Amino acid sequence: MNGEFDLLLAGAGHAHLGVLRQWSTGQRPKGRIALISEGPYAWYSGMLPGLLAGRYSPEQCRVPLEGLCASTDVVLLQGRLVGLEPASSSLELADRRRFSASWLSLNLGSQPKAPQEVGDEMALLPVKPFEAFLKGWSQWQETPQPLAILGGGAAGVELALALAPQVPALTLLSAGRILAGHPASLRHRALRHLAKAGVTVQEGMAVDSIHGDALVAGNHLAWHGRRVILATGASPLPWLRETGLACDERGFITIRDTLQSLSHPHILAAGDCASLAGTPRNGVYAVRQGPTLAANLSAALLGQPFVRFVPQRHALALLADGQGGALMSWAGLSAEGRVLGWWKDRLDRRFINRHLVSH
Ligand SMILES: Cc1cc2nc3c(=O)[nH]c(=O)nc-3n(C[C@H](O)[C@H](O)[C@H](O)COP(=O)(O)OP(=O)(O)OC[C@H]3O[C@@H](n4cnc5c(N)ncnc54)[C@H](O)[C@@H]3O)c2cc1C
Repeated sequence: MNGEFDLLLAGAGHAHLGVLRQWSTGQRPKGRIALISEGPYAWYSGMLPGLLAGRYSPEQCRVPLEGLCASTDVVLLQGRLVGLEPASSSLELADRRRFSASWLSLNLGSQPKAPQEVGDEMALLPVKPFEAFLKGWSQWQETPQPLAILGGGAAGVELALALAPQVPALTLLSAGRILAGHPASLRHRALRHLAKAGVTVQEGMAVDSIHGDALVAGNHLAWHGRRVILATGASPLPWLRETGLACDERGFITIRDTLQSLSHPHILAAGDCASLAGTPRNGVYAVRQGPTLAANLSAALLGQPFVRFVPQRHALALLADGQGGALMSWAGLSAEGRVLGWWKDRLDRRFINRHLVSH
């Protein structure tokens, strides 16, 4: 099937979920609209550590797209995007189907970056895309081995705390200090939890290459082993840069505050794949962009003026501690405890429930 639409939503990211949810309440603009998604579900990263720790089932951590799309009269097109032609607003899928639209909206996320690899002795498992990660992890679980996690951000720390009880030894390697960008007190709390869980933490280890079964940082041998999870933060999807869309120096799509591409105003982008001053790459900001994106996509189809996205100054971070509790950071402050774990669970479940539609 090929086809022409008024609007194509590419990627079932957090912002597009917000758009669909808003439209499901009766605010959908007229026009032919489709969502392109690699799979039938949108996974919620906030619950992934809990899923890995055995606290949730997969069904609790994902939004089935079929119901949400049906409730908003949006066509769900399943397939992997491999190409985008900005001038003609057309998209190509891996199975060679092509779709075009007057307006495009990109919410495709990001991926972790892998160090250069020499040899194939080290198995690498990127934490995204989640579906492939979960499949790979369940295979690894059949024969547990020592594990390294690359990346000392919130995702790396949460994964280490969730997975430590499931492997014989776990090392967390971070280029700088862990949880950089959060208050120092959060780092201290996290280090205590990691030590208690038996995780070896190596800070200041910017692993830049893999030689056989060794992770190497500059001239240092950082770790010996066979299995590495990549949680190295957000890197751009390489194919997007080749499309000719204006990108920043790293390769993220540069957008203005209306979420429109700087080079192609009929293309909007949100979440991790976009680059906007004052907007960090995490789920909180991707979710926050949802209402602005919904408003501007409606405005685009109705020929009305766009509104601006104003990023909030502080974002709440709640990190699962692997034991049912959570660590929190907000506006330079940190805290921890089981009550925060309970609160995080409430917020996460509410996010999923908001997007569930029975049909
Ligand atoms: C373990 C872990 C825990 C995290 N916890 C938190 C947290 O608690 N709070 C927080 O704020 N952030 C958290 N993050 C960060 C958060 O996951 C991302 O910042 C957030 O998901 C970005 O949202 P997004 O809407 O940009 O894209 P995503 O939610 O990543 O969605 C992108 C979508 O695009 C799809 N896609 C990508 N490429 C293609 C393609 N070629 N064709 C078709 N579809 C495609 C993907 O399959 C996916 O559905 C965590 C990250 C990880 C790894």
